[in-house]
Amino acid sequence: MLATYTDLKDKKILVTGATRGIGRALAESLASQGAHVIFNFREGKEAQAEELQVKLKELGASEATPLKFDVTDTAAMKEALENFVKEVGAITGVVNNAGISKDTLVLRLKEDELQQVLDTNLKGAIMLTQILSRSFLRAEDVSIVNISSIVGLMGNPGQIAYAASKAGMIGFTKSYAKELASKNVRCNAICPGFIATDMTDALDEKVKESYLASIPLNRFGTTDEVANLVSFLLSKASAYMTGNIIKIDGGLYI
Ligand code: NAP
Repeated sequence: MLATYTDLKDKKILVTGATRGIGRALAESLASQGAHVIFNFREGKEAQAEELQVKLKELGASEATPLKFDVTDTAAMKEALENFVKEVGAITGVVNNAGISKDTLVLRLKEDELQQVLDTNLKGAIMLTQILSRSFLRAEDVSIVNISSIVGLMGNPGQIAYAASKAGMIGFTKSYAKELASKNVRCNAICPGFIATDMTDALDEKVKESYLASIPLNRFGTTDEVANLVSFLLSKASAYMTGNIIKIDGGLYI
């Protein structure tokens, strides 16, 4: 069941990492609520971006705008976002969703892998939000949603880099919420548990089985369930909420 928030109609909402998984479900859900969905795509993903743009419009997006940038390339991201704001207007909803994991035990962790994970998941989200922050000051009803992870709260063996990046997002969310609250800019983070996507498909079957056994609701979550929570946080329905870290994990971490 997909929730609908009528105030998201025509709202300009940027979703990073929308080509697949949670980001894609989210972009589609926002499109069906009539939002203007802006999404990034990387070099070589032009065809997917075009396909997604068509799909979002079919679903009811008031507009769908692909922007070409990698979140680790601050200069390209700055150029694309500043041009968009100048030509089209302020973005008032942001979902920092693009993310990667490089899972390995600490003794095998390579410095460049650690750097890649931190640059994508943490630095990318902070820089993107910083680039848009000046335009937020002049806009209304700005809401940022950071996609952290339950692993950022509870830790996980084999996920040092990923957990550190996701825990970092929590500190970023709380600090940003405090800094910008007086300007009515809200910032919340969500911590999904196991959501069925490419990222979780890549996990070892044994790891998946052991997780399932520790999830009280006894199933993995769906991307639509995450999309519903993010829509709520983007809409005015959550107007009195900022700096929150919300778990959506079937009870995995109680
Ligand atoms: P996914 O299916 O692997 O998709 C990741 C998305 O991020 C893709 O669209 C990918 O684009 C994009 N991306 C990766 N690196 C990028 C970069 N440097 N610049 C721009 N875009 C980049 O992942 P997912 O499972 O949907 O996860 C989405 C978010 O939720 C991630 O932040 C993840 O950590 C978080 N999360 C997921 C789960 C879960 O169970 N799935 C649980 C907790 C948290 P390309 O198509 O170009 O690769």
